[in-house]
Formats: sequence, structure tokens, C-alpha cells
Amino acid sequence: MSEVLVLNRNFYAIAVTGWQRAISLLYLDHARVVDEGYRTYDFGDWLDASRSLESETSAFVRTPNHKIAIPEVISLRLFGKVPKREVTFSRRNLLLHYGWRCCYCGERFASDELNLDHILPKSRGGGTSWGNVVVSCIPCNKRKANLLPSEAGMKLLRAPARPRPRTGPLLWPQRAPARPSWKRFLSASAYPA
Ligand SMILES: [Zn+2]
Repeated sequence: MSEVLVLNRNFYAIAVTGWQRAISLLYLDHARVVDEGYRTYDFGDWLDASRSLESETSAFVRTPNHKIAIPEVISLRLFGKVPKREVTFSRRNLLLHYGWRCCYCGERFASDELNLDHILPKSRGGGTSWGNVVVSCIPCNKRKANLLPSEAGMKLLRAPARPRPRTGPLLWPQRAPARPSWKRFLSASAYPA
């Protein structure tokens, strides 16, 4: 809760941060709040705007002198680059990378019908990394069990690989569920429904 999407000055999503850091960037005039109409607010403007938001559901921070709404999206004033990011090794990113398809039978499944498969089984020293883990449906996973694909008479339809570091808008927020207000800034293809 209260995570804030950070955009660079060209409105590319580049990070997710905590509300404390977002407010401090705003206070230091390193960032502006961006609302759903793409209007931007500096600290003073945002204090004023916060007053009119009081009746709505926004979360607020109270200081001795102010009551300020926690923004959902901010943009950095000076930073224009889009950092390259390694794609984190996670179940979610594996599913995304392999398109929710079993790497053995090629069928598409729902998330809860897919397992992660160690090509060289863990019990035989196989590592947990992009190079040794693929997505597999439960029947294929059972069939393969503690064998190598060749031993089980199975074939990988896709070679395991670490996705290339991405340049571009944030693939998706790693640390928090995306808020509706973030969607317009996240690339549609990377944002599963
Ligand atoms: Zn399968």
C-alpha cells in the first residue's frame, strides 16, 4: 500500500518507491505529482490540491503543519534516461517470459496450472536460475519428474534463457500490485490483465 510510481521527466515509468521518498522528492522539488489528467503539481500546488481531495479516498500524511495526500504517480524533474534493467528471476517473470506456455508441450495454461521445472533436477545439482528453469504444465512436470528431458523422452520447445535487460518503461512493478492510476504509464503488452 502507498507505493508510488516514479516517471522520468518524459513520463516513462522507471521505478516504484515508497510514499516517504516520493514526498521527500516532491518537497525537495526534484519531482512533481502527476494526476490522472497528466497535470503536474509542485509541493505547494499539491498541498492546495490535497485540501480538495480530503473528501475522497486518498491516503494522507499529517505533519505538524500540513495534511498532504500521498500521490500515486510522480515524475522526476531532471532525470530523462530510461535505465536498463535486468529482469528479476521470479515465477511471475518466468511465466511472462514463456508466455504462460509449457516449454515441453507448448500448450498455454493459467498461472495456477503451471509449475517451474528445473531442467537439470535440483536433486542432481541443478541451479535455480534463468539458465536451468523453465515453465511446465503439471502433467509434463510429473512425467519428467527427476529426469533430464532426454532421459524422460521429452524435448524442450524453447531453450532456457535469461531475458535481455530491458530498456524501456518499467516492465511491471516488482514490489507492489499496480494501481489503476499506473496503468496508463505501463506498457500494455507487459501488463497482463
Ligand atoms: Zn506441458
